Amino acid sequence: MAKPITKVFDTHCTRCPRLAEFLSVGKHEYPAYHCGPVAPFGDPQARLIIVGLAPGFHGANATGRPFTGDYAGILLYDTLYRYGFATAPTSVSISDGLQLINARITNAVKCVPPENKPTPAEIAQCNEYLKTELQSLSKPSVMLALGTIAHGAVLKAFALKVGNYKFSHGAEHDLPNGHVLLNSYHCSRYNTNTRRLTETMFHQVFERAQSLLMKMA
Ligand code: SF4
Repeated sequence: MAKPITKVFDTHCTRCPRLAEFLSVGKHEYPAYHCGPVAPFGDPQARLIIVGLAPGFHGANATGRPFTGDYAGILLYDTLYRYGFATAPTSVSISDGLQLINARITNAVKCVPPENKPTPAEIAQCNEYLKTELQSLSKPSVMLALGTIAHGAVLKAFALKVGNYKFSHGAEHDLPNGHVLLNSYHCSRYNTNTRRLTETMFHQVFERAQSLLMKMA
Protein backbone atom coordinates (compact mmCIF):
# COMPACT_ATOMS: atom_id res chain seq x y z
CA MET A 1 0.00 0.00 0.00
CA ALA A 2 2.96 2.34 0.62
CA LYS A 3 3.78 4.70 -2.25
CA PRO A 4 7.26 5.82 -3.22
CA ILE A 5 8.69 8.80 -1.41
CA THR A 6 8.69 11.82 -3.70
CA LYS A 7 10.36 14.54 -1.66
CA VAL A 8 12.33 13.88 1.51
CA PHE A 9 12.04 16.73 3.99
CA ASP A 10 14.99 19.11 3.89
CA THR A 11 15.54 20.81 7.24
CA HIS A 12 17.45 23.57 5.42
CA CYS A 13 14.92 24.06 2.65
CA THR A 14 14.78 27.57 1.17
CA ARG A 15 12.53 26.89 -1.78
CA CYS A 16 10.14 29.69 -0.81
CA PRO A 17 12.19 32.92 -1.20
CA ARG A 18 9.78 35.10 0.79
CA LEU A 19 9.78 32.69 3.73
CA ALA A 20 13.53 32.12 3.60
CA GLU A 21 14.05 35.88 3.79
CA PHE A 22 11.56 36.19 6.64
CA LEU A 23 13.41 33.48 8.58
CA SER A 24 16.76 35.08 7.90
CA VAL A 25 15.58 38.43 9.25
CA GLY A 26 13.94 36.66 12.20
CA LYS A 27 17.15 34.81 13.06
CA HIS A 28 19.04 38.09 13.09
CA GLU A 29 16.50 39.58 15.48
CA TYR A 30 16.08 36.47 17.63
CA PRO A 31 19.36 34.49 17.44
CA ALA A 32 18.18 31.88 19.93
CA TYR A 33 15.15 30.97 17.81
CA HIS A 34 15.09 27.90 15.56
CA CYS A 35 14.11 30.08 12.55
CA GLY A 36 14.11 27.30 9.98
CA PRO A 37 11.72 24.75 8.53
CA VAL A 38 10.04 22.94 11.43
CA ALA A 39 10.24 19.19 10.95
CA PRO A 40 7.20 17.01 11.68
CA PHE A 41 7.16 15.46 15.15
CA GLY A 42 6.33 11.84 15.89
CA ASP A 43 6.49 8.41 14.30
CA PRO A 44 6.38 8.61 10.48
CA GLN A 45 4.10 5.55 10.56
CA ALA A 46 1.74 6.84 13.27
CA ARG A 47 -1.97 6.21 12.71
CA LEU A 48 -3.12 9.66 13.84
CA ILE A 49 -1.66 12.47 11.74
CA ILE A 50 -2.43 15.99 12.87
CA VAL A 51 -1.98 18.60 10.17
CA GLY A 52 -1.77 22.24 11.22
CA LEU A 53 -1.25 25.37 9.17
CA ALA A 54 2.31 26.59 9.83
CA PRO A 55 4.64 27.33 12.75
CA GLY A 56 3.91 30.42 14.85
CA PHE A 57 6.74 32.94 14.93
CA HIS A 58 7.25 32.94 18.70
CA GLY A 59 6.09 29.34 19.08
CA ALA A 60 7.18 26.45 16.91
CA ASN A 61 9.46 28.73 14.93
CA ALA A 62 11.27 29.52 18.17
CA THR A 63 11.35 26.01 19.64
CA GLY A 64 11.66 23.92 16.48
CA ARG A 65 8.85 21.51 17.39
CA PRO A 66 5.34 21.82 15.90
CA PHE A 67 2.84 23.58 18.18
CA THR A 68 5.43 23.86 20.98
CA GLY A 69 5.39 27.38 22.35
CA ASP A 70 2.35 28.21 20.23
CA TYR A 71 -0.79 29.14 22.14
CA ALA A 72 -2.61 26.56 20.01
CA GLY A 73 -0.30 23.89 21.38
CA ILE A 74 -1.68 24.23 24.90
CA LEU A 75 -5.02 22.70 23.99
CA LEU A 76 -3.54 20.37 21.38
CA TYR A 77 -0.97 18.69 23.62
CA ASP A 78 -3.33 18.58 26.58
CA THR A 79 -5.88 16.82 24.38
CA LEU A 80 -3.31 14.45 22.92
CA TYR A 81 -2.33 13.47 26.46
CA ARG A 82 -5.95 13.10 27.56
CA TYR A 83 -6.62 10.63 24.75
CA GLY A 84 -3.41 8.66 25.17
CA PHE A 85 -1.47 10.09 22.24
CA ALA A 86 1.25 11.86 24.27
CA THR A 87 3.32 11.09 27.35
CA ALA A 88 2.77 14.53 28.92
CA PRO A 89 0.07 17.22 28.78
CA THR A 90 2.38 20.10 27.99
CA SER A 91 5.07 20.52 25.38
CA VAL A 92 7.66 22.98 26.61
CA SER A 93 10.72 22.51 24.43
CA ILE A 94 12.18 20.16 21.87
CA SER A 95 14.25 18.54 24.64
CA ASP A 96 11.53 18.12 27.28
CA GLY A 97 11.28 14.37 26.74
CA LEU A 98 7.65 14.40 25.61
CA GLN A 99 6.84 11.68 23.13
CA LEU A 100 3.84 11.16 20.94
CA ILE A 101 2.15 7.76 20.99
CA ASN A 102 0.92 6.56 17.61
CA ALA A 103 0.54 10.20 16.59
CA ARG A 104 2.44 12.66 14.46
CA ILE A 105 2.13 16.40 14.14
CA THR A 106 2.99 18.18 10.95
CA ASN A 107 2.08 21.38 9.15
CA ALA A 108 0.83 22.25 5.69
CA VAL A 109 3.66 24.79 5.50
CA LYS A 110 6.85 24.06 7.40
CA CYS A 111 8.20 27.63 7.65
CA VAL A 112 6.55 30.48 9.51
CA PRO A 113 4.88 32.87 7.08
CA PRO A 114 4.48 36.62 7.76
CA GLU A 115 1.17 37.24 9.57
CA ASN A 116 0.56 33.48 9.56
CA LYS A 117 -0.55 33.74 5.94
CA PRO A 118 1.25 31.54 3.44
CA THR A 119 0.65 32.27 -0.22
CA PRO A 120 -0.96 29.64 -2.47
CA ALA A 121 2.44 29.19 -4.15
CA GLU A 122 4.10 28.49 -0.79
CA ILE A 123 1.41 26.02 0.19
CA ALA A 124 1.88 24.27 -3.16
CA GLN A 125 5.66 24.25 -2.83
CA CYS A 126 5.60 22.73 0.65
CA ASN A 127 2.94 20.24 -0.34
CA GLU A 128 5.64 18.05 -1.84
CA TYR A 129 6.81 17.28 1.69
CA LEU A 130 3.32 16.66 3.03
CA LYS A 131 2.59 14.44 0.07
CA THR A 132 5.63 12.33 0.90
CA GLU A 133 4.62 12.07 4.53
CA LEU A 134 1.03 11.10 3.85
CA GLN A 135 1.57 8.86 0.88
CA SER A 136 4.33 6.96 2.68
CA LEU A 137 1.95 5.70 5.35
CA SER A 138 1.75 1.93 5.13
CA LYS A 139 -1.52 1.54 7.06
CA PRO A 140 -4.83 3.44 6.97
CA SER A 141 -4.65 6.50 9.20
CA VAL A 142 -6.80 9.29 10.52
CA MET A 143 -5.62 12.63 9.21
CA LEU A 144 -6.91 15.39 11.41
CA ALA A 145 -6.82 18.67 9.52
CA LEU A 146 -6.90 21.75 11.73
CA GLY A 147 -8.60 24.38 9.60
CA THR A 148 -9.32 24.86 5.93
CA ILE A 149 -5.74 25.33 4.72
CA ALA A 150 -4.64 22.07 6.32
CA HIS A 151 -7.76 20.40 4.89
CA GLY A 152 -6.90 21.65 1.40
CA ALA A 153 -3.26 20.62 1.79
CA VAL A 154 -4.18 17.03 2.70
CA LEU A 155 -6.47 16.81 -0.32
CA LYS A 156 -3.80 18.29 -2.56
CA ALA A 157 -1.33 15.69 -1.28
CA PHE A 158 -3.68 13.03 -2.67
CA ALA A 159 -4.39 15.00 -5.87
CA LEU A 160 -8.04 15.37 -4.85
CA LYS A 161 -10.24 18.39 -5.61
CA VAL A 162 -11.12 20.54 -2.63
CA GLY A 163 -14.53 21.28 -4.17
CA ASN A 164 -15.50 17.64 -3.72
CA TYR A 165 -14.67 17.60 0.00
CA LYS A 166 -16.29 20.45 1.87
CA PHE A 167 -14.57 21.48 5.10
CA SER A 168 -16.78 21.58 8.14
CA HIS A 169 -15.95 21.05 11.80
CA GLY A 170 -16.36 17.37 12.65
CA ALA A 171 -16.75 16.29 9.00
CA GLU A 172 -15.16 13.06 7.80
CA HIS A 173 -13.97 12.29 4.29
CA ASP A 174 -12.80 8.99 2.86
CA LEU A 175 -9.39 9.17 1.21
CA PRO A 176 -7.45 6.67 -0.91
CA ASN A 177 -5.80 3.67 0.78
CA GLY A 178 -8.42 3.59 3.56
CA HIS A 179 -7.31 6.86 5.15
CA VAL A 180 -9.93 9.13 6.71
CA LEU A 181 -9.66 12.90 6.73
CA LEU A 182 -11.25 14.40 9.82
CA ASN A 183 -11.93 18.14 10.06
CA SER A 184 -11.64 20.43 13.05
CA TYR A 185 -11.50 24.14 13.49
CA HIS A 186 -7.94 25.13 14.25
CA CYS A 187 -7.20 25.28 17.99
CA SER A 188 -5.85 28.82 17.58
CA ARG A 189 -6.07 31.51 20.21
CA TYR A 190 -8.64 33.37 18.10
CA ASN A 191 -10.89 30.34 17.67
CA THR A 192 -10.77 29.33 21.32
CA ASN A 193 -11.15 32.89 22.66
CA THR A 194 -14.19 33.50 20.45
CA ARG A 195 -15.54 30.05 21.42
CA ARG A 196 -15.74 29.06 17.78
CA LEU A 197 -13.87 26.03 19.05
CA THR A 198 -14.47 24.97 22.63
CA GLU A 199 -12.48 22.41 24.57
CA THR A 200 -15.48 20.10 24.47
CA MET A 201 -15.76 20.38 20.69
CA PHE A 202 -12.07 19.58 20.34
CA HIS A 203 -12.34 16.61 22.66
CA GLN A 204 -15.27 15.27 20.64
CA VAL A 205 -13.11 15.32 17.51
CA PHE A 206 -10.43 13.29 19.28
CA GLU A 207 -13.02 10.87 20.59
CA ARG A 208 -14.12 10.35 17.02
CA ALA A 209 -10.52 9.93 15.86
CA GLN A 210 -9.98 7.33 18.54
CA SER A 211 -13.10 5.47 17.53
CA LEU A 212 -12.11 5.52 13.84
CA LEU A 213 -8.66 4.19 14.73
CA MET A 214 -10.17 1.35 16.73
CA LYS A 215 -12.25 0.34 13.73
CA MET A 216 -9.17 0.48 11.48
CA ALA A 217 -7.03 -1.63 13.83
S1 SF4 B 1 7.64 26.39 3.43
FE1 SF4 B 1 8.27 24.32 2.87
S2 SF4 B 1 8.90 24.42 0.71
FE2 SF4 B 1 8.83 26.52 1.51
S3 SF4 B 1 10.92 26.94 2.20
FE3 SF4 B 1 9.82 26.17 3.99
S4 SF4 B 1 10.16 23.94 4.01
FE4 SF4 B 1 10.74 24.72 1.97
